[in-house]
Amino acid sequence: MNDCLFCKIINGDIPAEKLYEDDEVLAFKDINAQAPLHALVIPKKHIATINDIQTNDAELIGKMYLAAKQIANEAGYADTGYRTVMNCGKSAGQTVFHVHLHVLAGRDLSWPPG
Ligand code: 5GP
Ligand code: ZN
Repeated sequence: MNDCLFCKIINGDIPAEKLYEDDEVLAFKDINAQAPLHALVIPKKHIATINDIQTNDAELIGKMYLAAKQIANEAGYADTGYRTVMNCGKSAGQTVFHVHLHVLAGRDLSWPPG
């Protein structure tokens, strides 16, 4: 997608601090971190929202969670805990329409979220 911010990060047009990368998945630090660890895990395939995920994307979405697990583990939060969040749509706070999994850790995270 030409005008997608996260596709531009995948293409290297916009720089990002990478935390994980393989053929299908990329993870990088959120530019406006909300916790000591705040990573965004994205598929290299452009998928706008959870509503656009298809059955044949199931393995890809699962790989995003495996990347999240690895990032949290490498940052030392596997045991203390971390939160994964994928917002869908405006009311949920989605601002970038390329699906992404937030991985947050390093402080006490309240529940329910705002
Ligand atoms: P959303 O609100 O869509 O769930 O999350 C989008 C996230 O992308 C936000 O947490 C925001 O800080 C992050 N973000 C927006 N623009 C950029 C950018 O150019 N680089 C990086 N690394 N993160 C960004
Ligand atoms: Zn995209």
